[in-house]
Amino acid sequence: AAKRGHLGISYYDPEADEHSFERLSVVGELRHAIEVGELELYYQPKVRMSDGRLCGAESLVRWRHPTRGLLTPDKFIPAAEQSGLMNPLTDAVLTAALDQQTRWRADGLTLPIAVNVGAACLLDLGLPARVARLLDRFGADAADLTIEITESAMIADPARATAVLSELRALGIKLSIDDFGTGYSSMSYLQTMPLDELKIDRQFTTKLTTTPSGRAIIGAIIELAHALELDVVVEGVEDQETYAIAQELGCEIAQGYLLSRPLPADDFRTWATDHGAD
Ligand code: C2E
Ligand code: CA
Ligand code: CA
Ligand code: CA
Repeated sequence: AAKRGHLGISYYDPEADEHSFERLSVVGELRHAIEVGELELYYQPKVRMSDGRLCGAESLVRWRHPTRGLLTPDKFIPAAEQSGLMNPLTDAVLTAALDQQTRWRADGLTLPIAVNVGAACLLDLGLPARVARLLDRFGADAADLTIEITESAMIADPARATAVLSELRALGIKLSIDDFGTGYSSMSYLQTMPLDELKIDRQFTTKLTTTPSGRAIIGAIIELAHALELDVVVEGVEDQETYAIAQELGCEIAQGYLLSRPLPADDFRTWATDHGAD
């Protein structure tokens, strides 16, 4: 690869070359993986804190790589983002999630499912029509689909983000603001965007038990969310003490290893039965 040195003279950088080669091969493999269905969804239970019952599942993508084993999103989402593969990836994830939801429904488990949608996809004006087509295809209830978005989309292009979110909302889909508090946290969009749910990021959750100020900040976020009529999900709950404090502070929904790690679909179904679902 050529890299620009000072005075604009290009010189050869073997290290950059190696990296771009690696990235190229990942991109080729990932494109193939999406086509042949090597991507899999794991599901993590969302539990209503008032009665401890299962109230939804967040889908989390995995890549069952032929030689490197099961890869978590941090290993391939960045490559997908840099190479324009997020739209096909997101379409594959939405399709798999709605397909799974349909199977569970046929099996007696009617459950809202949440899908993560990154900034690039959210800023694509074609997204609402693609989602609408998928809902149609599976005969899915839009109210049982939640799209989890991060602050970055709203910061990058608030007008476009609002346009896309409004269309998704008009379809009846629920919208959740993910990783709340980790981004630039311009809170103004909370008022202007049509949101239903706010997820407190794990970075904050861990502070519930460790610092009094952390607890105060999270308490304030929960109050703010409730003032805006948003449900609050506390994510990354790993112990009983954190669960109890979050409950006391008024969180509606909990998610985390204390309840369950993300599970393959069949294991999730078993977990649901073991935890009171039909
Ligand atoms: P996220 O949306 O914030 O998802 C929560 C992450 O925290 C997941 O990691 C989950 O496995 C993990 N987690 C859940 N409970 C606990 C806990 O109690 N303790 C700890 N330490 N971790 C917990 P995962 O599955 O590796 O996903 C990482 C990120 O990748 C997600 O963060 C999300 O931003 C992104 N991602 C996952 N699936 C998709 C997808 O289908 N599309 C897009 N665009 N992004 C995705
Ligand atoms: Ca999420
Ligand atoms: Ca999150
Ligand atoms: Ca998070």
